Amino acid sequence: MEESYDAIIIGGGPAGLTAGIYLLRAGVNTLLLEKMLPGGAPVNTEHIENYPGFPEGISGRALMDLFSGQARALGLSIKEFSEVQGVEKGEKGFTVKTVDGSYYTKGIIVASGCEPAKMGIPGENEFLGRGISYCATCDGAFFRGLEVAVIGGGDSAIVEALSLAHLVKKVYIIHRRDSLRAQKILQERAFREKKIEFLWNKRPIEIKGKEQIESIVLEDTKTKEILPLRVDGVFVYIGIKPNTAFLGDLVDRDGGGFIYTDNALSTKTKGIYAAGDVRVKTLRQISTAVGDGATAAVSLERYLLGDQ
Ligand code: NAP
Repeated sequence: MEESYDAIIIGGGPAGLTAGIYLLRAGVNTLLLEKMLPGGAPVNTEHIENYPGFPEGISGRALMDLFSGQARALGLSIKEFSEVQGVEKGEKGFTVKTVDGSYYTKGIIVASGCEPAKMGIPGENEFLGRGISYCATCDGAFFRGLEVAVIGGGDSAIVEALSLAHLVKKVYIIHRRDSLRAQKILQERAFREKKIEFLWNKRPIEIKGKEQIESIVLEDTKTKEILPLRVDGVFVYIGIKPNTAFLGDLVDRDGGGFIYTDNALSTKTKGIYAAGDVRVKTLRQISTAVGDGATAAVSLERYLLGDQ
């Protein structure tokens, strides 16, 4: 017989773990399914300075260990390495199918976050793990004393370029425009960092090498000039793609695949809520994911009580 819950949270990042804390405190029988280990995207960030309560900043891993520790201390059941493959709507509740089993639940909070967008250029897949990386915190140490490129001009690209600058000989930030999208405070730090050189109005068109990456080929977005650049590694931060395929038609999405919600974080299907980076919103931060987790949990609790 399949296990039965009142609430299932899909995803163990800041939104999912916060939802777990709120649901447990409300006495709701809850299971959190996580495809890897709890923590979510912040575990790949070396140093977090904009989450309140930590005046000196804190590592993403340490912060998320505090989140999951608090959720577990309250009694939240977390199933690790349990990737959700599909959700089926029944007469009253839902069946959530994972790689190793099915669970029945009355309500769902989708907090499955995002994965890094790919460049989609020749060489990107071939050199994955041989010079191409989407995680400087995980792989930066392999490039100690070497030269690397960071692709992108958003917060992730700049934060990770700054952290790589402590390890490597040189970081090229390659951006397709001539101004950055990242927060001003991060931009100013990057402009001051001597190991960082900006290559403006350039887009990558090919990765070349033998066993490992040897160069990246760039195209000037204005003049169309081709520029080969010798690098040992390429870190890609060109945005994020939400993990929602397992929901089929149960939710409405925008053009980027992010889930539409109302003020209560309800999706188009009664009983399914979305929280954190996975939904359409203006600011994707840990602080906003935490707010979403709390809101979605309270909305689901009210739904279970028949109030919503
Ligand atoms: P992002 O904000 O969407 O930035 C993506 C960057 O990649 C943009 O500069 C974009 O250029 C560029 N880009 C997009 N497609 C490209 C392509 N095909 N080729 C080359 N360049 C391309 O993504 P993100 O930096 O990963 O951040 C994701 C979210 O997490 C954001 O909401 C961000 O604020 C948040 N975040 C916050 C922090 C923090 O607060 N410390 C840290 C990390 C992430 P254009 O600018 O020209 O569009």
